[in-house]
Amino acid sequence: MPIATVNPATGETLRTYEAMGDEEIERRLQLAEATFRTYRTTSFEERARLMHRAAGLLEEDREEIGKVITTEMGKPVKQARAEAAKCAKAMRWYADHAAGLLADEEPAEADVKDSGASRALVRYRPLGPVLAVMPWNFPLWQVIRFAAPALMAGNVGLLKHASNVPQTALYLEDLFHRAGFPEGCFQTLLIGSAAVDDVLRDERVRAATLTGSEPAGRAVASTAGEMVKKTVLELGGSDPFVVMPSADLDRAAQVAVNARTQNTGQSCIAAKRFIVHADVYDAFVQRFTEGMRALKVGDPLDEETEVGPLSSERGRDDLVELVDDAVRGGATVLCGGERPEGPGWYYPPTVLTGITREMRIHREEAFGPVATVYRADDLDEAVLIANDTDFGLSSNVWTRDDADVDRFVQDLEAGSVYVNGMTASHPAFPFGGVKRSGYGRELSGHGIREFCNITTVWHG
Ligand code: NAP
Repeated sequence: MPIATVNPATGETLRTYEAMGDEEIERRLQLAEATFRTYRTTSFEERARLMHRAAGLLEEDREEIGKVITTEMGKPVKQARAEAAKCAKAMRWYADHAAGLLADEEPAEADVKDSGASRALVRYRPLGPVLAVMPWNFPLWQVIRFAAPALMAGNVGLLKHASNVPQTALYLEDLFHRAGFPEGCFQTLLIGSAAVDDVLRDERVRAATLTGSEPAGRAVASTAGEMVKKTVLELGGSDPFVVMPSADLDRAAQVAVNARTQNTGQSCIAAKRFIVHADVYDAFVQRFTEGMRALKVGDPLDEETEVGPLSSERGRDDLVELVDDAVRGGATVLCGGERPEGPGWYYPPTVLTGITREMRIHREEAFGPVATVYRADDLDEAVLIANDTDFGLSSNVWTRDDADVDRFVQDLEAGSVYVNGMTASHPAFPFGGVKRSGYGRELSGHGIREFCNITTVWHG
């Protein structure tokens, strides 16, 4: 895959980049290691000062960087600006909380005594250079979600961004540089995916985080396993959105449309499978389909646009294949379902019913604005359908019955359960999945501690 900016709204290649060669990669690895040696000794106050400054700069840039994002991966520009604002918030949150989250911990006095120590504590020390392999779908947010805690913990970052967002990747390096972080604290490696393995095997790289597809996660995790390096994996999702009879149907349907189509449906935590109780099935499906049909699809630079093009021709082809396979297998198309003519990689909001276990779309992630709807006779069946997937990222349930909520929280195989709302990450809450959606957590105290050397200090 060439490293290039290709406008998804037109298919036009706007800018191509030469991948960095071995010498340049070596220079950057040396710099990362050298910078880490001193950066790790800086105080939380100093790091927080720089992180606040970076957050301020990002906010000032949001108009400009919003347009870059839209041009590189096609998300509606309003959503691109909102992404920049969300990043600034997470940077500030970590700037303000890192010292508390990583403060020394004192074990219980009785346990200290029992160990024979006069004193003992746990200290969170940084690990070193961490490689971040990141996807294009939230090209700022995915990176900041890693970088803000990593830098606040005293680590340094090496970014291998997706090949279709090189301008955003270079912007991020420049952002941390302008904020005053020492040179080498955050570097972008303009490299293709085939070059990741060598970087990961380098002894100077201490750990890796990958957000992306399952094959990419498997490749990075297996090399990291061989090298005995810590990894965090944030992979795909096919989140359920369960609607029970006591739900506020108008609200549920309205949120369902947004949950399925934000970022043109290319979100790991988008609700993808809508599981509706038989008692409210017709009423919900009617409202939901109306909402999907009413969305404004068009030029992502237009402020009114709600659904833009998909990020790549390949991405649209994959989606077309999934829908066609379902239709061949007997699915009913309630809206959308046709690849439009004309330039750009557009695909209409689509609702499919009559899904069976044999269809690919039942097992695979639909990375675009395509919803599958299932009917469930009761809560047990809803849980069965919800868990009938290899993924386990997040889940959404709509009910006003506390007993239902207890059952869902107990039984849904997912990293989070959102009740009467759509999944949305927040810096204070852990984010991540189970099953093939990955392991480890980002955000919150759990996220910042993933790349720390959790050190026991024992005094005799
Ligand atoms: P992808 O192909 O896996 O790409 C993600 C990143 O991995 C890119 O930087 C890519 O580089 C790199 N990569 C690909 N193959 C690799 C390999 N064999 N070794 C090392 N690096 C490799 O992902 P995508 O399909 O573009 O992105 C969508 C996927 O990401 C979806 O499955 C989505 O659910 C998932 N995702 C998950 C989360 C989460 O938090 N759980 C968030 C967002 C997206 P190139 O671009 O150079 O190929």
